[in-house]
Amino acid sequence: MQESDRKTVSILGATGSIGGSTVDLLQANPERFAVAALTGGRNAARLAELSLALRPDFVAIADPSRYGALKEALSGSGIEVAAGDEAVCEAAARPADWVMAAIVGCAGLLPTLTAVRRGATVALANKECLVSAGDIMMREVAAAGATLLPVDSEHNAIFQVFEQRRRDAIEKIVLTASGGPFRDASLTEMAGKSPAEAVAHPRWDMGAKISVDSATMMNKGLEVIEAAHLFALTEDRIDVLVHPESIVHSLVAYRDGSVLAQLGTPDMRTPISYALAWPERMQTNVRPLDLSEIATLTFSAPDTARFPALALAREALRSGGAMPAVLNAANEIAVEGFLSGNLGFTQIAELVEDVMEAADPSAPGSIDDVIELDLEIRGAAARRLARRATSGGSPPDTDSAIEIGAGRL
Ligand code: NDP
Repeated sequence: MQESDRKTVSILGATGSIGGSTVDLLQANPERFAVAALTGGRNAARLAELSLALRPDFVAIADPSRYGALKEALSGSGIEVAAGDEAVCEAAARPADWVMAAIVGCAGLLPTLTAVRRGATVALANKECLVSAGDIMMREVAAAGATLLPVDSEHNAIFQVFEQRRRDAIEKIVLTASGGPFRDASLTEMAGKSPAEAVAHPRWDMGAKISVDSATMMNKGLEVIEAAHLFALTEDRIDVLVHPESIVHSLVAYRDGSVLAQLGTPDMRTPISYALAWPERMQTNVRPLDLSEIATLTFSAPDTARFPALALAREALRSGGAMPAVLNAANEIAVEGFLSGNLGFTQIAELVEDVMEAADPSAPGSIDDVIELDLEIRGAAARRLARRATSGGSPPDTDSAIEIGAGRL
């Protein structure tokens, strides 16, 4: 294969969990892919290691205080190095056929949009940017002629079995949920759970924020909103089904009674590879699915009394306007508070609900409006969080707070 035949790829959020799975696929297929740009948030050592292995033209780290370490680690490599939020956007703007959008949280909004605006094929892992700015993002995708390929395993599954040309034959879609590590826990038990317990997901190995979202089932709520934008469906046509084995990744129910599903071993390399090779498929090293070994697949309805975050997300989607962005920003602060030991597990949804009840913003009309709203709601959520901590509404005793980029999520 000629150098020019290789697909050029950039990874936004290369140092994270999705970034790592993407790198794994690239390294297994060096003859098919060339790397244009990589980005990280704060982890300069990992970004340098990846850069030396993949040889991108350009590398950006969001936290300017990590620039020196990155620059030094890559000195003499010929790789261009930059730092700051603008540099991350510049990485997204660099010519690449395919861009993985895997920055966590609303921080991924502008970089993802930058790739969309130049008409790239964008593999979208960052669900928060569709939650906060779904209408605007989908308009930008259409205007730029960009291609958005869902990477989230549920949306990728639906994408694989959703017949776009026969939309009118589709009754509804069903997102499956593992139920997370506290699937069978009572609310009282959940109240005492520590960050370490919440991030220990039984099926998926993921970053800290999405692991906590999975434990509260906010993740499924964010995914309902994400699906509404990706597949242009109303909230009442998106069901959720708890499926602890995480083998059936999601389903599409047709009006004739047929239900089409995508199944596979729970491994993010499968949906990422689908997006990477699309519209073809590629070989992966994912463990083949052996249904005779698994033998039993179970399903149940979600319990919104124990997992109120799911109901809050549905409410935000039904309300529309600014409410999904409010939900997302409040949740990011609440998860940050929980991970740093300043909020109890069940208080995450309580804080989000409080912020939603108090918020009455008008619908954002532009990305700048979304960013402004996001900052404003984060401020409001952080103030409520501080008030809870000082008024005795503090979390249960935990010695396992997880250090995250405080103030940067
Ligand atoms: P991780 O926490 O593992 O990685 C997040 C990435 O974002 C890292 O590269 C991190 O850099 C970077 N980052 C963090 N803050 C900033 C910032 N302010 N500016 C620029 N970059 C930043 O998360 P995951 O890989 O688990 O998740 C990434 C996204 O994919 C999330 O939106 C998640 O919901 C979604 N997703 C993840 C799945 C999974 O299996 N992990 C499944 C489906 C969706 P650094 O580490 O260097 O600070």
